[in-house]
Amino acid sequence: MGEPGSRVPLGPPEVTEGDIEAVVRVLRTTRLSRGEAAREFERGVARAVGVEHALAVNSGTSGLHVALRALGIGAGDEVVTTPYSFVASANVLLYEDAVPVFCDVDPVDLNLDPERVEAAITGRTRGILPVHVYGRPVDMGPLREIARRHGLVLLEDACEALGSERDGVRAGAMGDVGVLSFYPNKQITTGEGGVVTTDSAELHCRMVALRNQGRVPTATGGFDQEELGFSYRLPEMSCALGASQLERLQAVVERRAEIAAAYDRRLREVAELVLPELEVPNGRISWFAYVVRLAPELPAGLRDEVIARMEAADIESRPYFLPIHLQPLYRRRFGYRGGEFPNAERAGRRCIALPFFNRITPAQIDRVCRALVTAIRDR
Ligand SMILES: *Cc1c(COP(=O)(O)O)cnc(C)c1O
Repeated sequence: MGEPGSRVPLGPPEVTEGDIEAVVRVLRTTRLSRGEAAREFERGVARAVGVEHALAVNSGTSGLHVALRALGIGAGDEVVTTPYSFVASANVLLYEDAVPVFCDVDPVDLNLDPERVEAAITGRTRGILPVHVYGRPVDMGPLREIARRHGLVLLEDACEALGSERDGVRAGAMGDVGVLSFYPNKQITTGEGGVVTTDSAELHCRMVALRNQGRVPTATGGFDQEELGFSYRLPEMSCALGASQLERLQAVVERRAEIAAAYDRRLREVAELVLPELEVPNGRISWFAYVVRLAPELPAGLRDEVIARMEAADIESRPYFLPIHLQPLYRRRFGYRGGEFPNAERAGRRCIALPFFNRITPAQIDRVCRALVTAIRDR
């Protein structure tokens, strides 16, 4: 089955000749940081998301970090968040000695379950940090209402969700601050990079300083260091790549929805799989990944075998996500032993992310689906 030289990768970036020219154009100047490309990229993201301000930083994680610092969330503060996410969304809380208070996810859409959030709030809670998992937009209405009632900030991890929308609001514009990532496997890439979005001029201004050591421009063209910040600037080459990629955002979102629909058509009748729903109420999914789950009747242990058999057929797939609270660091630090968040854990044991990228061909989708079904049934 392994046709040599025809590996199907998990999620390679799409880089066009136009993208390459945009990066090379920057390299021919002497301005490689803090220049016009950054301003153009920031304006483009602000427009695409529908917010007043956007701040380019060198990763999504850096973006979450400056946002937390600017929001004043610090030592001992509790933030209610999801265990079913990439580790970055909780790690940034540890950077600030804040405490991630995990809440289980909805068993179907795998996003933070608003019904459980309120019960997790204590006198030390300062914020809620939802994640649009795999690009599926969270139903923010109930979370916004809880945040308002308890005076909490809403920090939106939209790192997987550029282009998603719910109730007419786009991902990145749903909270007090939103964060996008442009890592190479995301919908659009800058190599490494992130953007922090907000409507608050005050927060934006503070984050501009935090990105650059905590320094604030003075009237005479210099800087005064007002507080301790970071070195989180995004190079001009990356900003130019991002601005160029951003021009095709809509086409990318549409293309990825088509790929998800193609997988759905091929796998719908496979009783051994639970597929992601193609729609969300009053919303649009910008697909980051296409993740199926083994049906409850199958032994969870089969998952790793399926991934290994796909690998033997030259198809890359991943167990994506292992819940954060089960990571060794979190077990050691917080005493998690498994069993705390059953929905997240069940999904974590049964999920398989399939190859998913703009240029995947119908023949590749067909090969992935055939290999997947064979891997499940050949026992
Ligand atoms: C990609 C991602 C991030 C940020 O990752 P970086 O590699 O730092 O850009 C944060 N949260 C989630 C959920 C992600 O998927």
